[in-house]
Amino acid sequence: MHQVKTTCPYCGVGCGVNATVAENGTLSAVEGDREHPANFGRLCVKGSALHETLGEQGRLIKPRVDGEEVSWEQALSVTAERLNTLRAEHGNQSVAAYLSGQLLTEDYYVANKLFKGFLGTPHLDTNSRLCMASAVAGYKRAFGADAVPCNYEDLEEAELVVLVGSNLAWNHPVLYQRIKVAKERNPLMRVVVIDPRVTDSCEIADLYLGIKPGSDAVLFNGLLAWMAAKNKLDTVYLERHTQGVDDALSAARQSAGSIAEVAAACEVDAERLETLYYWFASQLHVVTLYSQGVNQSSSGTDKCNAIINCHLAGGKIGLPGAGPFSITGQPNAMGGREVGGLANQLAAHMDYDTPGARDLVSRFWATDNLVPRLPNGPGYKAVELFDAIARGEIKALWVMATNPAISLPDAAHVRAALEKCPLVIVSECAANTDLLPYADIVLPASGWSEKDGTVTNSERCISRQRGMLPPPGEARHDWQIICDVAKQMGFAEAFDYTHPSEIFDEHARLSGFENATTTQRLFDISGLAGLGRDGYDALTPIQWPVNAQAPNGTARLFVDGQFATPDGRARLLPITPRGPEQRLSQAYPLRLNTGRIRDQWHTMTRTARSPRLMNHRAEPFIDVHPDDAAEAGIKDQSLAVLSAATGQYRARARVSKAQRRGEVFVPIHWTDCFSQNARSSALIQRIMDPVSGQPEAKHGAVALAPL
Ligand code: SF4
Repeated sequence: MHQVKTTCPYCGVGCGVNATVAENGTLSAVEGDREHPANFGRLCVKGSALHETLGEQGRLIKPRVDGEEVSWEQALSVTAERLNTLRAEHGNQSVAAYLSGQLLTEDYYVANKLFKGFLGTPHLDTNSRLCMASAVAGYKRAFGADAVPCNYEDLEEAELVVLVGSNLAWNHPVLYQRIKVAKERNPLMRVVVIDPRVTDSCEIADLYLGIKPGSDAVLFNGLLAWMAAKNKLDTVYLERHTQGVDDALSAARQSAGSIAEVAAACEVDAERLETLYYWFASQLHVVTLYSQGVNQSSSGTDKCNAIINCHLAGGKIGLPGAGPFSITGQPNAMGGREVGGLANQLAAHMDYDTPGARDLVSRFWATDNLVPRLPNGPGYKAVELFDAIARGEIKALWVMATNPAISLPDAAHVRAALEKCPLVIVSECAANTDLLPYADIVLPASGWSEKDGTVTNSERCISRQRGMLPPPGEARHDWQIICDVAKQMGFAEAFDYTHPSEIFDEHARLSGFENATTTQRLFDISGLAGLGRDGYDALTPIQWPVNAQAPNGTARLFVDGQFATPDGRARLLPITPRGPEQRLSQAYPLRLNTGRIRDQWHTMTRTARSPRLMNHRAEPFIDVHPDDAAEAGIKDQSLAVLSAATGQYRARARVSKAQRRGEVFVPIHWTDCFSQNARSSALIQRIMDPVSGQPEAKHGAVALAPL
């Protein structure tokens, strides 16, 4: 029996896990790693059930081509040959990849290098687009870089924590626990929850604002205008470290009006609203923590910037216990961003329009003499990518560790696109998913507890995930599969890695290569280059940047008021609030909210294996306000159907006053593999934020009826 330190594969908290491997080679127990700075020994119910979700049953164990089991040799050569043929016939940009925040950074790195660097296509995006793309875009517009300024300790050191669009108690439970304990220790600490639903996170709230969905930007514009009116702006900070306050204030005043007007627009109590404004303005140590409720919107980026504006205007950033803190959904959403896993990114936090970046990356990857060279500009973002497949423009798609047939909006459209796509390659752990019937080539991949690599959590902390069990059957690691295909395609030299430590080393070297761009300098982990296999194996959690100036990592960003913009100043942006694009109508009069439940993860391929996790909510459901239920003729626990322009969802109704009148909530987890007609994505239209490309998953328009 021995213990292995690794990291939980679920949410963006990124908790450290001590896993016990028994004499018989199985993983017999898990407990929280007391030395890991994300959780200090805590685990939530999902993390503590990790060892109950393993085993060969239900795993993909053999490669398949056109429905037939084949050897790896055949699978790799057919994959390479078909990709090469389609590229030759239709051009480099006819091939695409769709990745996942479940992949490890090393997997992401080689996939990005292959597609953008060597196949010459920019069309590589990730399911992180569905989770935090608006937060990324908001940070970039304000700070010049996708850089989370805070860390988890800030949540404990704050005098005020404002949760916006985040049910932390269910979706990031260990952080919720940390805030709860900090609040018990510090009676002066306050927590505010801004959310259309009364959630379990309200248990620690001193103030709750049951906001009208989509009105967040009005609320934060109102806060900015109120701070100015009450002389609560930090004029010294604004003068020294920012640009754009006048325009931001003018837009805020235009949209906000009086407290009563803002309260009416947000449908919240005016007195409570003013209390929030007073608390925010009178404390320096304020963290605003926001998540999918803000991001998954057609104006998500603007909402993020409306929040950031208030922090910059009050100088509440770069200090202990202060800052606008986006909390990511997936375990490695940030690691994917680091290597360039979003279609608008190139590599190492550099975009296509980052001055000098394209040449720098091309020199580093030695693609200067390669035809084609790196693409010139961004590729299709997730929803656009599947539209391009539907148009016949993209001919080959490689999906890794995710299930767009379930998770993307308007799933019927996605499925029709996949049906039409001449080549669909799927790398996957689970043997039964809604995506696999569309795959021409199926490649069995290793999973958590089997693979080695790194992940980066929401506070920029890089941690090791460690392999401790052999992959089942013939499953291989994603980085190996990608590199083997690359070699077959003729790029043997550039993909000749023998261990993930070599990929991590290259990734770390690229982050500091020539030290040429400001965004690159901010994300510089060159201090982690040259670790070798032993150093990589022994790597302990560390927050980027990690370089000669910060060899032990960096707890907090922007402490000196210097940002990653060309002039070093942060930007306040003028925000004009916009409501949801999915309009309510007579036919579809209810606002649909979607989200996770406490004990499940994504499409349940892992968590559904644990009976105790399934006990929490054993089946899909529709949460509905008593008045809406009565109007539709629906009783508690009776079967009901939600209809939208794009499809239907059938489940049992749970009548609850935690829902606002006129709004319903459904979980995102159930797939056709578990329950026919209970896919939340069937109800969401293909509408995106114009800046971030993030779909408007929190704002469907539906009708409710008895089944
Ligand atoms: Fe895993 Fe997140 Fe739970 Fe931590 S809080 S144990 S990372 S699911």
